[in-house]
Amino acid sequence: MALTVMKFGGTSVANVERLQKVADRIIKQKKTGDQLIVVVSAMGKTTDELVRMAGEISDRPSKREMDVLLSTGEQVTIALLSMVLIQRGYDAISFTGWQAGIKTEDVHESARIGAIDTSLIRPHLKKGTIVIVAGFQGVTEIGEITTLGRGGSDTSAVALAAAFGAAKCEIYTDVTGVFTTDPRYVVNARKLKEISYDEMLEMAYLGAGVLHPRAVEYAKNNHIELVVRSSFSDEEGTVIKEEVFMEKSKSVRGLAFEKNVTKVTLLGLPNSVCAVSKVFDAIAAKHINIDVIVQNVLDQEKTSLSFTVDRDLLNETLDVLKTQEKALHFQHLIHESGLAKVSIVGSGMASNPGVAAQMFHALAEKGIKVKMISTSEIKVSTIIDEDKLQEALETLHDTFRLTEEESVRL
Ligand code: ADP
Ligand code: ASP
Ligand code: MG
Repeated sequence: MALTVMKFGGTSVANVERLQKVADRIIKQKKTGDQLIVVVSAMGKTTDELVRMAGEISDRPSKREMDVLLSTGEQVTIALLSMVLIQRGYDAISFTGWQAGIKTEDVHESARIGAIDTSLIRPHLKKGTIVIVAGFQGVTEIGEITTLGRGGSDTSAVALAAAFGAAKCEIYTDVTGVFTTDPRYVVNARKLKEISYDEMLEMAYLGAGVLHPRAVEYAKNNHIELVVRSSFSDEEGTVIKEEVFMEKSKSVRGLAFEKNVTKVTLLGLPNSVCAVSKVFDAIAAKHINIDVIVQNVLDQEKTSLSFTVDRDLLNETLDVLKTQEKALHFQHLIHESGLAKVSIVGSGMASNPGVAAQMFHALAEKGIKVKMISTSEIKVSTIIDEDKLQEALETLHDTFRLTEEESVRL
C-alpha cells in the first residue's frame, strides 16, 4: 500500500478553522486508500511568540531550554488536528518527535536527524490510522529534546518520507509553489513548474525560506520527489526533482536573499594558514555558522579576514573572538551591520561565463555597491547594503528575464 507524507506549515494550521480545512485535504487523501503520515508546524506565529518571550528574559537564553520551549508549539497542533480528525470519524493519533522515534545528534537548536525508529509508528499505519507527527523536533540518545532549526518541520517530513519509503512527500504552505524569488518581495515573481534538487538546495541555503535546506538535502540523498503547493487552493505546485530542463539562453533559475547579515573583520592577523584556521576553529567550536569569507593579504606578515554571520549570532561571535584575542593574534576587531546577501542561482550558469559580470553590471547601473562576493558552479552571491535589497531584487529579476515563461522542451 502506498504511503504519503503531507506537511502543513504554520499559516496553514493557524487556527481551528484552518485545521478543519487541513483535515478536508487529509481526508481526501485518505480516501485514495493511502497510508498517511501528516507532519505539522506550530500554529501561526506561535514559535516567534515563544522566541520573543524568551528574549524578554535573556538575550542569550539557554539553548536546551529554548528547545524545551519551542517544541511545545508543534505539540499543540498535533493534538488539535488529531482531535479534529477523530471528531470527523477518522482514526488518528498524534506523536511528538520523541514518541515517533526521531533521533537526533546532541546539538540544541539546529540538530540533524540521525535515525528514525520506524517500529513506533508502523503498527498504526498498518491499521490505517492517520499518524500525525510534530515537525521540527527530535530527541537525543539520552532523552534530551532537540529542535532542527527554524523552518525545520519540512526536514521532519522528508526524513519521515525517507525512513518509511513514502511514494510522495507534499509540502503544503501559504504560496502556490517555489517562485523565481520570494513573491512577497517581487510582485512579478513567477511560479516554477519544476526545479532541480541542486538549484533548490542552493536557493534554500541562500535564504529562500519556502523550504528548509536540510529537507532538500535529505530529499536529494534519498531520491524523494518533493512537491511544494498551496494549502488554500488546488493549483498545481512545484516539483523538486533530479533533472530539470533549462533553456540554453537562460542561465538563472531564481534569486534568493537573506537580510540581517553582519560582516566581521579581523585586522592585523598573522599571514599564515594556521592563524586563519585557528579563527574558524574557535567559531566552529561554538556551532556558529559563518558564510561569505574574504581574505586580503596586506603584506608578507599581515592579513585581514572578513566573514559574514547572521545578526543574531553576532554577539556570540564577537565574544568568542574577544576572549581568544591573545591566542588568535589579531590587532583589531570591527563589524558592520545592515547588510543583505543577494544571490542568483541556476544550473545553466556553469556553462555560461558572463553571468556574474551581467549581475555586477546590473547592480552597478543602479549604484548598488557590492561589498563581498562568493561563487560556486551554480550561484553567485553578493553582499550589499540592506536598504538596497528591494531595488537589487527587482533589477536582477528583470536583468535575467525571470518573469518570462520557460519554453517547452521539444
Ligand atoms: P510554512 O509555515 O508553510 O513552512 P514558510 O513561511 O516557512 O511557510 O515558507 C513560505 C514562505 O516562503 C512564503 O510565504 C514566501 O514568502 C517565502 N519564500 C521565500 N522565497 C520563496 C520562493 N522562492 N518561492 C516561494 N516562496 C518563497
Ligand atoms: N515552528 C517552527 C518554526 O517556526 C518550525 C517550522 O515551522 O517548520 O520555525
Ligand atoms: Mg517553513
